[in-house]
Amino acid sequence: MLQSRVKCLAVVGLGLIGGSLAKAVKERSLAEKVIGYDRRDSEAALAVRLGVVDEAAPDLVTLASRADVIVLAVPVGAVAPVLEEMRSALRSDHILTDVGSVKGEIEKAFISVFGEMPANAVLGHPIAGSEKSGVQAANSALFENHKTILTPVPVTDSHALGVVAALWRGMGAEVLFMSVAHHDEVLAATSHLPHLIAFSLVDTLAGADDNKEIFRYAAGGFRDFTRIAASDPVMWRDVYLTNRDAVLKVLDAFDADLKKLRSAIADGDGQTLLGVFTRARAAREHFTKMLEGKAYKTDMANNVTYVAGKGGPVCGDIRVPGDKSMSHRSIMLGSLAEGVTEIEGFLEGEDALATLQAFRDMGVVIEGPDRGSVRINGVGMHGLKQPPGPLYLGNSGTSMRLLAGLLSGQSFDVELTGDESLSKRPMERVAKPLREMGAEISTSEGGRPPVKIKGGSKLHGIHYDMPVASAQVKSSLVLAGLYAEGETSVTEPAPTRDHSERMLRGFGYPVDVNGSKVTIEGGHRLNATKIDVPSDISSAAFFLVAASITPGSDLTLRHVGVNPTRVGVISILKLMGADIELSNHKEVGGEPVADIRVRYAPLKGIRIPEDQVPLAIDEFPVLFIAAVCAEGETVLSGAEELRVKESDRIQTMADGLAALGVGSEVKEDGIVLRGAEIGGGAVDSHGDHRIAMAFAVASLRATGAIVIKDCANVATSFPSFTTLANEVGFNLRTEETA
Ligand code: NAP
Repeated sequence: MLQSRVKCLAVVGLGLIGGSLAKAVKERSLAEKVIGYDRRDSEAALAVRLGVVDEAAPDLVTLASRADVIVLAVPVGAVAPVLEEMRSALRSDHILTDVGSVKGEIEKAFISVFGEMPANAVLGHPIAGSEKSGVQAANSALFENHKTILTPVPVTDSHALGVVAALWRGMGAEVLFMSVAHHDEVLAATSHLPHLIAFSLVDTLAGADDNKEIFRYAAGGFRDFTRIAASDPVMWRDVYLTNRDAVLKVLDAFDADLKKLRSAIADGDGQTLLGVFTRARAAREHFTKMLEGKAYKTDMANNVTYVAGKGGPVCGDIRVPGDKSMSHRSIMLGSLAEGVTEIEGFLEGEDALATLQAFRDMGVVIEGPDRGSVRINGVGMHGLKQPPGPLYLGNSGTSMRLLAGLLSGQSFDVELTGDESLSKRPMERVAKPLREMGAEISTSEGGRPPVKIKGGSKLHGIHYDMPVASAQVKSSLVLAGLYAEGETSVTEPAPTRDHSERMLRGFGYPVDVNGSKVTIEGGHRLNATKIDVPSDISSAAFFLVAASITPGSDLTLRHVGVNPTRVGVISILKLMGADIELSNHKEVGGEPVADIRVRYAPLKGIRIPEDQVPLAIDEFPVLFIAAVCAEGETVLSGAEELRVKESDRIQTMADGLAALGVGSEVKEDGIVLRGAEIGGGAVDSHGDHRIAMAFAVASLRATGAIVIKDCANVATSFPSFTTLANEVGFNLRTEETA
């Protein structure tokens, strides 16, 4: 609802906050008139001279009788006396508000004066300020792009709340709402404790014998402490005395943690220090992403668009990043192993980072990642701890489905959440069989995340016949099977990736694979190991197709994982006539690895064998591009799984191709594509990383430039895609907007 403009806004206390607020309201014409009162006439006169207010009121009663909105911008302890003094002039149609840093005490002040919380009072707190005081420091931009918290109570009048919220928004602030008690707890932790630490540390060091030396050499970090410690002492004294309980609670927690750090230093316990420091180091990024509901990596603008011009041929000798499936599993098993697991070639993409952060949240000390190296200090099968809050898994379906299984057998409750896109994906396909094993697990509306798992369930082995071939479902049950009594076995209708089985063996855990049936017995242990993660064939696939469709191409891809459950893309491309050679075969950590050379060859359309579909499930977006560049018709069926990936990949690809002038016949479980000329145009990847990269590949054969929208999620699986692509002959430009 649009609020009508305030007629007369009155500010009591023309200090830093009151002055800034008055000035901002005046400059932005949020009120017809702005008046002020300060107990010191000189300050009030200065406020008029500086143009902070239109007029100064001689006393509080006069001020109240003229205003319709009154803002109390005095110290917390002064609110009750001020209200008392102006009370005779207060009307029920006044709107009263404040800016105090502690809300519980202000609420008490109102109740002490009026006998109850008046409906026309809206308590608030701008999360903005500076060490300066007084009207001289008034800054009309102080609240811009800062948050203001309003703490309405049940009796608060909605009109009054709307007017106050509109004022803050008008000053450029983002308005948040929370309860009085919650505000005081949050602020105790995020503002009051850090200030207390700054005051104390600076005071301790200032009292040290060699204090001159300390201040002379004070560098970055300490300087920040001295800046904070320069804040107004009286205001802060009041903050601690009025928000006593919440501050004491968080102070005690900090005190206990500080003592643990002290003991760790005294005892030479580097493990504990690393645990604290690695968690703290990742915290900022983790929480920022979590609050924004995004995936992990920092160097990502909100919106990334690819502009793919004519490029090619595709030539060179490259190594694409590490396998995503193996990166996930190496963190999971390394965390549950006994001893230190060292990983090389770890994919620092967002999805694998989501798994890494989840285990950090469950108390595992993980060093890195640092250029693909990660060291995991395993905690053993029963060493995970309850995370402090829900585990946030960004965009990663693999993390969520595998963790659902692995965490079903733990002693603690846990909740799994994700970003907007992950929150739409089906989770019942794992939850249902896990329940059969005795897990207490619930999904939200429509079987989607968040997934809640109750701790302490006794799992028992089952046999599960998977209705749809899915490596994630199989792995989830196998990981739950580690904690189940007896044997858990899973039969798959068609072969799917077997990285979990291979890596479990790599960690010394017995797994029996008999045809399409995998069996695991609970109760064994995992031993730490070393893993050199091979390149991800799903990332290599974009280059396999790129070189195959672009005349003159000759490209070598090094150290690619060629696990038989993943080479569908090679088999399908070969059936289409692609020129692909594997050499230098070796085995790394139980996984077959090879170098792959691919050269341009004219492709022909085929009927894709259904048994190859699960082996190439992630590669279809780019295989669709290969099909459009082939002569004749390509038919895909038996691929309904594609509809529940990061996007509905059949429809999203068909829509994108249509935008480039390429027709297709969409089926429930597949698509029919015919060789056609690809035009230029704009396509939307719908945030699906593989669709974005597939259309970048299409540009090599397009008659005009392709603009691909919503590509930020490429960082989930292939952070260096554009760099490598341009290195081998693509003509790809990235445009970022915030
Ligand atoms: P300030 O610059 O020192 O201004 C305080 C104002 O209150 C001055 O005008 C002062 O008058 C007046 N005042 C002090 N004691 C009074 C009393 N007993 N009776 C009547 N008026 C009195 O402080 P500020 O930073 O603006 O703080 C004002 C409020 O904003 C506080 O409640 C504080 O919790 C809140 N706040 C501050 C920050 C921050 O970073 N500074 C941030 C958010 C919220 P004189 O002219 O006599 O000094």
